[in-house]
Amino acid sequence: MDRVECVVVGAGVVGLAIARALALAGREVVILEAEDAIGTHTSSRNSEVIHAGIYYPKGSLKTRACIAGRIRLYEYCAGHGVPHRRCGKLIVATHEGQVPELREILKKAHQNSVTDVVEIPAAEALRMEPALHCVAALHSPSTGIIDSHALMLAYLGDAEAAGTMLALKSPLIGCSFSSGKFVLHVGGEAPTEITAKTLINSAGLRAPSVARLIAGFPPDKIPRELYAKGNYYSLTGRPPFSRLVYPVPEPGGLGVHVTLDLAGQARFGPDVEWVERIGRKTDYAVDPRRADRFYAAIRRYWPALPDGALAPGYAGIRPKISGPGEPAADFVVQGPAGHGVPGLVNLFGIESPGLTASLALADDVAGILKDQI
Ligand SMILES: Cc1cc2nc3c(=O)[nH]c(=O)nc-3n(C[C@H](O)[C@H](O)[C@H](O)COP(=O)(O)OP(=O)(O)OC[C@H]3O[C@@H](n4cnc5c(N)ncnc54)[C@H](O)[C@@H]3O)c2cc1C
Repeated sequence: MDRVECVVVGAGVVGLAIARALALAGREVVILEAEDAIGTHTSSRNSEVIHAGIYYPKGSLKTRACIAGRIRLYEYCAGHGVPHRRCGKLIVATHEGQVPELREILKKAHQNSVTDVVEIPAAEALRMEPALHCVAALHSPSTGIIDSHALMLAYLGDAEAAGTMLALKSPLIGCSFSSGKFVLHVGGEAPTEITAKTLINSAGLRAPSVARLIAGFPPDKIPRELYAKGNYYSLTGRPPFSRLVYPVPEPGGLGVHVTLDLAGQARFGPDVEWVERIGRKTDYAVDPRRADRFYAAIRRYWPALPDGALAPGYAGIRPKISGPGEPAADFVVQGPAGHGVPGLVNLFGIESPGLTASLALADDVAGILKDQI
């Protein structure tokens, strides 16, 4: 049986950032990934936006990790040649009734110390983005876009250079804990057992299921799992925008916004579609019947969107731990103080802004485990 210090379950952007942080701290790390490649789930099915930290409650982990993560991420991208662009974003009110909400967002941004966000009059917003319709807007200059796959490869490269081993097609299928060690049952083509002193559950959508695999883990410490699919439509043809454009947020998400990729192509989304379960094979198909709702939502801020310009794109699924109509739950980084099992950290509900926050979350996990090995 192989023995290692740390096992990270999940090679998404957060799991890879954690493996990197632990490896750079001198730990021996193995990453178990169920799929045949890194980042095939939520980490490659998102808006690839580096968020400023505007929307989340003051004092929340989402706010802290987003702001700290964003600052570190820009430095990291610059130092590691990860393609990104600090393109800025506009949040727009499309009618007078939305202006109070826009001002609330501005207040929240400033309370969160994101003080570079400013309100601009409609004329200024139209000068910046002539295709836009709005009555008022906020400008966030520190929002940007990133190539998330290049970021994951860079994290993996750092981790591997520090000795980490990545095991693909290696799902964790069972786990017991005794005498201060985890005994991990790994399935896949070459089933095996590994013992580890510490275990990090960074399995994204499956994190609650992975926690349930740990024999004796207290069930009341596992949040209920809920899923909110976010569908994207791509724009065929050249986009009229050079910045990101967001409407005021909708319940469950940030509203159908325009994001640009680094090649300059535009996509719209994600919407919010609550789904009951994800099954063994996650269904990421985009229902073409949702197009009408996209045209309607986008034309509120881009009235000239031509008929037939949208094509179904891709979808991602938010790993929610709070349901429709409830206040959005914070990220949960649950260490031994939260569940009583030494050497174990679970990450639950790592939806947006998890990509932006990845380096900060990784530092938190490394901090929790500092004295546990
Ligand atoms: C629609 C949408 C838009 C978003 N937009 C943004 C954005 O613009 N900016 C931003 O900052 N964030 C955004 N996010 C959030 C961000 O994408 C996520 O927070 C981040 O990708 C989560 O990474 P992760 O590593 O936790 O999870 P994942 O990427 O889901 O990785 C988990 C991994 O665990 C593996 N796994 C699962 N079970 C097992 C097992 N038993 N054994 C081994 N491996 C297992 C999976 O195969 C997977 O590879 C968005 C999310 C969504 C859904």
